[in-house]
This record gives sequence, structure tokens and C-alpha cells, in this order.
Amino acid sequence: MLVDDRPANLVALESLLEELGVELLLANSGPEALSLLLTNDVALVLLDVQMPDMDGYEVAELMRSRKKTSMIPIIFVTAINHDESHVFKGYESGGVEFLSKPIEPLILISKVKIFLQLDNQKQQLEYSLDEVQQLKNRNELLLRSVGEGIVGIDSEGVITFANPAAEMILGYELDQLVGVAVGSKLMVTTVLPEDYVWRQTKIYRSCRTGKKHHSDVGVFKTKSGKMIPVEYTATPVSISEGEFSDVVLIFKDITERKKIEDQLNYMAQYDSLTGLGNRNLFADAIESSILRAEHSKNTFALLFIDLDRFKQVNDSLGHHAGDTLLRNVTDRLNSCIRSCDIICRLGGDEFTIIIEGKNIYSAAERVSEKVLRFLTVPFSVDNHKIYIGASIGIVFYPDMAKNSNEMIKHADMAMYQAKRDGRNCFKIFEPDMKQQVEKALELETKLRRSSGQTKDFFLYYQPKIRVSDGKTIGVEALLRWKPEGEMISPATFIPMAEETGLIQNIGAWVIEEACSQLKEWRQSFDLPEDFSVAINLSVKQLNDSSVVSLLERELTRHKLPASMIEMEITETVVMEKTDQNLQVLCDIHALGVSIALDDFGTGYSSMSYLTQLPLNVLKIDRSFVMEMHTVQGAAIVKAIVALAKGLSLKVVAEGVETESQMLTLKDLSCDYVQGFFYSKPLSCEMMEERFRKEL
Ligand code: C2E
Ligand code: MG
Ligand code: MG
Repeated sequence: MLVDDRPANLVALESLLEELGVELLLANSGPEALSLLLTNDVALVLLDVQMPDMDGYEVAELMRSRKKTSMIPIIFVTAINHDESHVFKGYESGGVEFLSKPIEPLILISKVKIFLQLDNQKQQLEYSLDEVQQLKNRNELLLRSVGEGIVGIDSEGVITFANPAAEMILGYELDQLVGVAVGSKLMVTTVLPEDYVWRQTKIYRSCRTGKKHHSDVGVFKTKSGKMIPVEYTATPVSISEGEFSDVVLIFKDITERKKIEDQLNYMAQYDSLTGLGNRNLFADAIESSILRAEHSKNTFALLFIDLDRFKQVNDSLGHHAGDTLLRNVTDRLNSCIRSCDIICRLGGDEFTIIIEGKNIYSAAERVSEKVLRFLTVPFSVDNHKIYIGASIGIVFYPDMAKNSNEMIKHADMAMYQAKRDGRNCFKIFEPDMKQQVEKALELETKLRRSSGQTKDFFLYYQPKIRVSDGKTIGVEALLRWKPEGEMISPATFIPMAEETGLIQNIGAWVIEEACSQLKEWRQSFDLPEDFSVAINLSVKQLNDSSVVSLLERELTRHKLPASMIEMEITETVVMEKTDQNLQVLCDIHALGVSIALDDFGTGYSSMSYLTQLPLNVLKIDRSFVMEMHTVQGAAIVKAIVALAKGLSLKVVAEGVETESQMLTLKDLSCDYVQGFFYSKPLSCEMMEERFRKEL
């Protein structure tokens, strides 16, 4: 800006400065200059000293008094002699340079240039300052908004700053934190506040060497005295010669994470369904028991419990019912043991109990008996009465196993043996069980192979006799299996086939074979009109409806009246009565095939179920026939016959071995009998021989 009351001077200055290529503002008077300064950014003012109304010094003073203009450099242009008083006045009023008229162009230009450069630098500086300020604001914002607590600590361990998150997590106000020794009352790891020495902390020692210190298991104490789990990192700042100026401590409250971790830990050790220890906890527990036994030279027991028939419940009533049952079983198991015994669920329907203490041998048996007794009482789940039981294997350490693996293996073997011995019992491990288990496995492999091609299977037939006239009015088809020349009992391989699911295949073969045999006999012999073949059906075969279509197909294929086929189901079907089972049974019945309830009296069926099943025949179990010579035994058979008659069912007595049994049954007006007294189960050829004689 050029200020001069004489236009000619202004023009002269303007033309001199033109070559600098800067924008020039012209003012004719002090007031005009001041008003222009208000609205323009000016880098330098060339100010005439002598002007009417308001001289240059006045203008300069007013400029200095205003914030916007106070820092603008002024070069006074004066015609007055350079005496010192003038110069001082000029400096006092804020001028920085003097030029006297007439102006030497070179001096003017070089001076103006310098000031313009200075202005340029100033602007750049302001710009940089602005950037720094912005950066600072941004960093502050970051510090304020991060979720982690950030605390600055000086080399003496005194807090120099804390962000809002730190205040919040620790529960202190900023001024309560700053200036305080970090360990004295705020943060401790495992040391007590009174034992705390900054220079002995891990933070200090690590930061001194220029290294960060990280910990995910720190514990900080809040204002309220609560100890909170934290994860933190301490980073040293500007380290030189083994000393740092500050430490920045960043920390996170991990209470929530700890909770989840604890929960995960719990889940890793406990079974969520029953709350019992799981396989992991069991593994730890048995190792501890072994260590204790080694130390005290004592013996302890492991009970391996597997529920009987649990899978059927799960398959037929669904997983929800299965889960409920497992919880109820857990309650009962818990009531069988002392609080110091350890009970775990290994998965599925497998439970273990570790028992330590005195008289361990009898204690283990006592607990096993109690478990069996408690578990045979029926359970009530979803309005179903459920009968299960358990098979228990017992093993003692150190007598029967060298380590935990062997213990589990041997207990499992003993349990397996209990299952094979008819279930619902316990077995103590014996060395030769190993071979038995191996044999069983071998047998299972053979059964698998045989059932694939249904080879090695054939049917025997046991005649069914009408009591009134002693005539054979039917046969029961009984499955035989002879792999590699050795006959295996159905009592051994049928449960195995049921457990492995092979029964589906084998059972279908039995139906096909029996039907095709009946067709041949009908062609070769003059069979009685009401002759029938009874086929045993496993409850597993009732789990899907394919058995219905199979029966229908075989009846059509061999042109057999449905009334010539009778299906025998055991009483367990009644116990596992599910909608699915019942439906399949009704569908079979609807074909015209009659249905017999086998082994009646051995299960637990309630009488009311009998009326709900589509039954035609009741077969009294052999065990009752055997007891008929006693008064009570005879009374039971009499009652069963009466019950059957009341329900309009035919009665068959199984296992009749003596004439007196036969006569008693005749007296009780039992309809049919089967048993060795009349005939053992016969091969096809022998059966045909019998037909030839009789018919
Ligand atoms: P079950 O259906 O009750 O068959 C009667 C069993 O008693 C047969 O044993 C038979 O040989 C035997 N028995 C008959 N009369 C007498 C007697 O007077 N005294 C004695 N001590 N025993 C007698 P088996 O053939 O060993 O069959 C055992 C069980 O295996 C059968 O009992 C049946 O539940 C099952 N089973 C046999 N064949 C099949 C089949 O094809 N499918 C299915 N699912 N099960 C079958
Ligand atoms: Mg039978
Ligand atoms: Mg039977």
C-alpha cells in the first residue's frame, strides 16, 4: 500500500514498483489508508510522513493499535531531514524503516523486496502453524475418543496425562490422576501398593532397555477399590543412553473378555446339557486320582456306565426327549454317589464315576448296584414312560490297569461284557475279557460280511401245535447263522445285528425266505386252511415303513393270503411305543397279517398299552411255563390266558417241554403250544419230513 497526499508522488512510486509484479493499493490520506487496511490483506505499507489532517506517525500508531494491522511492516517515506528525534518517533509509532525523498529507486526496490519476502515467509509459517494446530486437534480428538485408556508416565513413574477413557476405566477425575505416582494407588499388577517400587516394575525395566512391555493378564485397581483385569502395553518415548523421558501406557478393561474366556473354559471342562464334567475334566480327574493313589498306595475304582436302550429313545422320541432323559439320569446318578466321587459324562449315554476311599472293592459294587437299581425305575419324559437300564464296567487302579488309557479301555471292555451278559448288570474287568471283546469284534465283522450277501443264514422252523387236537397249525421261523461252519446263537448275533443296524437287511431276508418257503410248501403239501408262518420282527424294523411294502410285495409275489403270515414283536416294542412304530404296526395289520406279542410277561408293558396295539396273539414266555408246577406259577399263566381271552386274543404258550405242562395248559384252555415236548426247531428238510408224516 502506498500512502501519500500528493497524487504525483503516488504515480511515481507506482511506476517504480511496477516491476515487482505485486498488487498495489493506493491511498491519498491517512483515513483512506486505514479504511483500505480494514478490508485488504496488506504485506507492507509505504507511508508518507507529512500529510495534512493525519500525519504518517498517527496513521502508524492507529495501525499498531488494531489487531489486524498491528504486525504490518511500515516504511516511512519522508522529506524531513533524518534527525534522530524523527527516527525515534518513527520507530516508536511502529515503523521499521525510513526512506527519504527523493527516493533512490534501487534502494526502494531492494527494501520493498525484503519485506515482501518476509511477508511471504510469515504467511508460510502461519500456514504451517495452522497445519500443526489441526494435527494437534486431530490427535487430541483421537486420544479423547479411543476406547483404550491412555496414560502418560514420566521417567519417575508419575502420571503426566490421562485420556477420558483412562479416567472412566479407573474411575478417577483427570486431576486425581495427573501428578500421582502410577503404582501408589492406581495400578498394580501382582504387587501390593505398599510394596510397589517403580524402578522394579516390569514396565520400568523393559522401557529402560527401549523395549515395549506387553501383558494380557494385568490387574488394575480402580478408585472404588475394585480389581479389574486389563491388557496393557507400555511403550517408552525418546530413549537415550538407557533412560527414557516418558512411557505411554495403553490399557483395556477386559472384564467382559475374561467372562467369556471363563465361560469357554467352563465349556471346555463341563457338559452343557447335564452340568457334569466332560471328557476333558474326566481326563484330568483320572490323572489326579492316579497320582493320589501312587502317593498314598491306595486303590481306586472307575465305573464306566453305558445306558441300555438310550439310542432307541433318542431315535423314536427325538433328541429333545433324549436330552431330558439324560438330565433325569444325571439327577439319579448324582443321588447315588458321595460328594467326593467324581462323575462325568463322556458323551452320548456314557457316564463315568471315579470312586476313592476305604473298602474300595465293596464300595464300587455297592455304588454299581445302587445305580442299576435307581435307573431301572421308569422315567417319565414327555408323557412317555421310559424304561432304560445301564451296563456298568468296573476297573480298579493299580490292580487292573497301568495308566489312565488302560483304565478306560478295560472299564469299557467290562461294560461291553455286561451288555453281552444281558445288560442291566455290572462286570468287573477280567484279563480274558480282552479276548472276548476281540472275539465279539471279529464276530461283528463276520456278521457284516454275511449280511451283505445274506449268506450263511438259513431258517429253522418250530411247529406250533393246536392244544385241542394236537395238530400242527403253523410254524415259527427262527433265524440261524452259521459262518465258517460254526453255529452262532440268535441270542448273540441278533442284538449285535440290532446294534449295528444290520438287522434291517437280515430281517428283510428272513421275510423273503419265509414267504418263498411257504409258497413252496403250499404247492407241495396239503396244508391246513388256517396254517400260518410266524416271523420274528425286531423293533428296529418298525422304525421305517419299508417293512410294510416289503411284506406286501412278498405276499403278492408268492400269491399268499395275508392271514397265513404272523409277525411276532417282543414286548420291548410296547415299551418303546412311538407314533412311528405304532403306525408301521397298524399298516402291517391292515394288510391282513396278524400280530403276536412275543415273550409276554418279561417286559414291563402296562395293561392299557395292550389295548392300544393291533394284536391278535399273545405268546406266554417260556419262563412262566417253566414255573407252572408251582401254585403261583400256574396262577400267573391262568391269569395271562384269562387276560388274553378278555381281549379276544389267541394264546400261545412257548417252551413247553413236558407232558404235564402240556396237560395243565390244556386245562387252562390255552389255544396253541410250542416247545421241545412237541418238536425242536427243525431244518427245512426235517420240517418237510414231518409234513409228509403228518399230512
Ligand atoms: P423267540 O421268538 O421267543 O423264539 C423262541 C426261542 O425259544 C427259540 O430260540 C427257540 O429255539 C426256543 N425254544 C422253543 N421251544 C423251546 C423249549 O421247549 N425249550 C427251550 N429251552 N427253548 C425253546 P432261538 O431260536 O435261539 O431264538 C431266540 C430268539 O431270537 C427268539 O426268541 C427271537 O426273539 C430271536 N429271533 C430268532 N429268529 C429271529 C428273526 O428272524 N428275527 C428276529 N428279529 N429275531 C429272531
Ligand atoms: Mg418268537
Ligand atoms: Mg418267545
